[in-house]
Amino acid sequence: MEKVKIGIIICDRYRTCAGGKCFRAVHNREGAFARYKGQEVEIAAFTTCGGCPGGNIEYAPEEMKKNGVTHIHFATGFIVGYPPCPYMEYFRDFIVEKYGMEVVFGTHPIPQKYYATHGVLNTWKNLVQKGVLDQTLTRDRCKRQLLHFSLLFKLKKHFLLFHHVQLAPTLASFPQLRWGNCPIFG
Ligand code: SF4
Repeated sequence: MEKVKIGIIICDRYRTCAGGKCFRAVHNREGAFARYKGQEVEIAAFTTCGGCPGGNIEYAPEEMKKNGVTHIHFATGFIVGYPPCPYMEYFRDFIVEKYGMEVVFGTHPIPQKYYATHGVLNTWKNLVQKGVLDQTLTRDRCKRQLLHFSLLFKLKKHFLLFHHVQLAPTLASFPQLRWGNCPIFG
């Protein structure tokens, strides 16, 4: 079976990251690397986007391609950073169009601590709807928890805006919800 050569591009906000979680996830075929189960994989390139607005995206894939890279992964930091990278879909479209390489959003599984905050802030709503997180949110339960937080966020806003009475204190407590004690899915 042919080896898959991948290139990882990380968000420059985490430029000093040594890639520990990404390399472990490749080894264990976890997160966005679960798609390579049963296949031989080599990380043939690792670089940063070059800093906002991501100038390195224009050239780094060309160098990676010369070394046989066929799949580029945007590291999970693109998604879990505050705010998530606003350019990642532009980057994907550019790389696919110009270099004909496959682009995958995410590397290692999203650490659980990020779900609560991003769920409350609703920052991943559009990404979830577009299926951008499908590769990284590999557990159905994670997806349900995220949607649950989004729903509670909307309910809280609704009651605070239009009723601001009895139900508000109950709903106002939802940021304290944590993985494992979710009243609906925990
Ligand atoms: S937010 Fe996007 S463009 Fe900015 S440093 Fe991170 S990956 Fe690069």
